[in-house]
Amino acid sequence: MIYADNAATTKMSDAAIEIMIKHMKENYGNPSSLYEFGQQAKEILEAARRDVAGIINAKPEEIYFTSGGSEADNQAILSAAELGKKQGKKHIISSAFEHHAVLHTLEKLKKQGFDITLLDVHEDGLIRPEEVAAAIREDTCLVTIMYANNEIGTIQPIKEIGAICREKKVIFHTDAVQAIGHVPVNVQEENIDMLSSSGHKFHGPKGTGFLYVKKGIALANLIEGGSQERGKRAGTENVPGIAAMAEALKEICDNMVENTAHIQAVRDKIISGLAEIPHSVLNGDAVKRLPGNINFCFEGIEGESLLLLLDDKGIQASSGSACTSGSLDPSHVLLAIGRVHDVAHGSLRLSLGEDITETDANYIIKSVKEVVEHLRSFSPVWRDLTTGKAKHLI
Ligand SMILES: *Cc1c(COP(=O)(O)O)cnc(C)c1O
Repeated sequence: MIYADNAATTKMSDAAIEIMIKHMKENYGNPSSLYEFGQQAKEILEAARRDVAGIINAKPEEIYFTSGGSEADNQAILSAAELGKKQGKKHIISSAFEHHAVLHTLEKLKKQGFDITLLDVHEDGLIRPEEVAAAIREDTCLVTIMYANNEIGTIQPIKEIGAICREKKVIFHTDAVQAIGHVPVNVQEENIDMLSSSGHKFHGPKGTGFLYVKKGIALANLIEGGSQERGKRAGTENVPGIAAMAEALKEICDNMVENTAHIQAVRDKIISGLAEIPHSVLNGDAVKRLPGNINFCFEGIEGESLLLLLDDKGIQASSGSACTSGSLDPSHVLLAIGRVHDVAHGSLRLSLGEDITETDANYIIKSVKEVVEHLRSFSPVWRDLTTGKAKHLI
C-alpha cells in the first residue's frame, strides 16, 4: 500500500506514540492540581509549549493549545472579529480557496453583519500581496490568508502580506496547518499575528493543535469553564496528546532539510511522469508549492472513479471533489483558480510522506496512466472530445 494522502492526515511517528503512551501511563495527573503529581503534568505541558513556541520563533505565552486546526481557525477569526466590532470595524479580507474551517466561520460572521471580501486566487494558485493591500479599508479588522493550500499545495507570499497588514495595523491570521513541519515558519520574520496549526498533519495525534497569538491581541473564548490556557480555552488539557504533538513537531523540523530534498525530488519525478498524460494539467505553481503536493486535472474522467481504481491498485490518494449530500460538487479550490466544472471534476491529489520511494513513484506514474486511459476508454465525455463534438479545455 502506498499512502499518498498526507494532506488529509498523517501516520503518527513512533517517537510521538512512545511519548504519548508514556504520559498516559505515568503522568495522568491534572495540570491544574497543586500536588506534585499534578505539577509534573503541568511541567510536561509547559515544556511542550516552549518547544512549539521555539520552532515558530514565538514566546511560550503566545501559544494556546487547541483540539486542532479547525478550532484554532475559529478562535482566531472570531477573536479578531470581536475586537473589530468593538472599534466599529466589521470588514474582513480572506481568499476564495481557504479551508472550510475559515470559510464557514466567515459565513457565520457575514450573517452577523460583517462584510467579507474573498480575494480571487490567480491561476497559479497564488494570492497577490498588492491585491491584499488594495482591499484593505479603514474598517478592516482582519486579513486571514492560508499559508499553504491543502489541495493544490501552493505557498502564499505570507511575509509580504504580513508586512502590508503590519503597516496598515490590521490583524493578520494565517491557517498554517499544511505548512507547519513542512516548510520553515517564523512568525516574527513573517509578520504573523495569529497562526493555526494541527498535530495530525505532521505525524502528531489527531485532536491536537495550537493557536499562536501575538502578545497584546486579546483572544475570545470559544469554550467557557476553567482557567486552562490562561483562561482562553477551558477544559482539562490533553497532556499526552500535546506532548506527543510537540515531539512529532520537533522530529519533523529537525529533519526538514533532508525530508524536503527527498520528497521534493520524488514529487517532481511524479509530476513529470503525469504531465505526459495528454490533456492533463498540473494545478498550482510548480515551484511555490509544498514539497509533497501533486495535484492534476485529467480531462474526460471523474476524480471519484480514478480514486477508487487507484485504491484497487493499493494507492491511497484524494480528489478535490467531495460528495456532499448526494450532489457531486467540484472543489472550491479548483474553481477558485479558474478550472471549469468539467475539468475540476477530473482531479487527483497525491500528498507524499517522508517514506515515499522512487519505486513508489514509478508505480504511481504507471498506475495513474493506466487508470486514466482505462476510464477514458468508456467515457462519453472523452468520446465527444476525441471525435471533435466537444472542444478540449486543457
Ligand atoms: C486539516 C486542515 C485543517 C483542519 O485541521 P483539523 O486539525 O483537522 O481540525 C484546517 N486547515 C487546513 C489548511 C487543513 O489542511
